[in-house]
Amino acid sequence: MQIAIDGPASAGKSTIAKLVAKKLGYVYCDTGAMYRTVTLMALRNGVAPDDAKQVTALLPKLEFKFVPTADGQLVYMNGEDVSLAIRQEDVTNNASAVSAIPAVREDLTRRQREIAAEGNIVMDGRDIGTTVLPNAELKVFMIASVAERARRRFLDNQSKGIYVSIETLEEEIATRDHKDSTRKTSPLRQADDAILIDTTKMTIDEVVNQILALQAERER
Ligand code: C5P
Repeated sequence: MQIAIDGPASAGKSTIAKLVAKKLGYVYCDTGAMYRTVTLMALRNGVAPDDAKQVTALLPKLEFKFVPTADGQLVYMNGEDVSLAIRQEDVTNNASAVSAIPAVREDLTRRQREIAAEGNIVMDGRDIGTTVLPNAELKVFMIASVAERARRRFLDNQSKGIYVSIETLEEEIATRDHKDSTRKTSPLRQADDAILIDTTKMTIDEVVNQILALQAERER
């Protein structure tokens, strides 16, 4: 079975997707981590994140590896563990520019489909239900208010020793939402057959249980 979880930045997708995958014994694939890794590679090579030609030229030199661990997944870029580096603010704020490049989307979509072809999977991102896995048996579109998403990101940052004010985070989230939903190629959009879950006032357990119930219905 394929479970696609899409939605805007910081709506809780990866936290929930990870837990759902663990409960079901499925593989978890965080596609945002892939766009972040390409962004990191561009920044490290002095390539402007919106320079389509130069960013695209980096792709053949990029090898990803995802290693599932008890606390999530480690991300390797050409053998280097970049799990923490791809969560830094400069990567976060430049990822939308990189992800708007059609050749980058094409390359990563192909890699994501290869991962999904290996078996049961929970994949999260922006375009999984609409583009990457249009035949997924279960599609969820997860949303939450900007204020709640900024609050969650603030707490998440705190645990990583990163400090950015809530006001700045709200602005960054709104900007990223706008860029992700207005780009030409595979914009952030709810698939027609996706179930909408507003997590603003829900606990993590409630969201996980709702998705597990939907999965069980589809398995019947
Ligand atoms: O999910 P996360 O916030 O880590 O994603 C980082 C960025 O990668 C997003 O803001 C978006 O621009 C891009 N992305 C995308 N398509 C996906 C996953 C992420 O465009 N499937």
